[in-house]
Amino acid sequence: MSTSAILLERMGALIQQSVRNDAARHGLLPIHVQVLHYLAVCNRYSDLPVAIADYFGVTRGTVSQTLAVLERKGLLVKEPDPRHGRRLHLRLTPAGRAAAADSWPERLDAALRRLPGSSASLDESLRALLAALQRLNGQRAFGICRQCAHFHREVAGARCGLTGEPLTEEQTFKLCREWAAPTPASQGETASVD
Ligand code: SF4
Repeated sequence: MSTSAILLERMGALIQQSVRNDAARHGLLPIHVQVLHYLAVCNRYSDLPVAIADYFGVTRGTVSQTLAVLERKGLLVKEPDPRHGRRLHLRLTPAGRAAAADSWPERLDAALRRLPGSSASLDESLRALLAALQRLNGQRAFGICRQCAHFHREVAGARCGLTGEPLTEEQTFKLCREWAAPTPASQGETASVD
């Protein structure tokens, strides 16, 4: 086995332990804190129960139970979509945002920022590895909006080429379930905004 595979296995174990510790601190299960953090970083096309099921590879029943617990604890609320009658968006409350900000991905982010040198090549390698693992598991890719094949930078801001809707600057940093890997044709455009 390669050194990288062993290192990743070790990091996976540490991350699982961190998730368990975070959850215990808030009186929650690991999937509860993972969903809170997901909702803190996903965009408006992805804050849906079906997207959570896709992202974590869990059943809709598990998602319903998780959302019921988080709602009961005052960590999230459900808001109807103004344009799609029965669709419900999930919004974190201030308490939910505080719990998400106090979870392991934020500590991981801080540790990565302390590493010497540019993070661009590490990002690139991890993205390729993640895509390979997602293909093996038959999962949707998910990804950061501004690195998507459908992302268009415009003079007055940005736009999603899939939905045709404008994107606020904040949305361009969010995670999206409709994300598609950049093609050589789209890469010139996305590279200039990374
Ligand atoms: S550009 Fe891609 S990632 Fe961004 S909102 Fe559209 S589909 Fe999602």
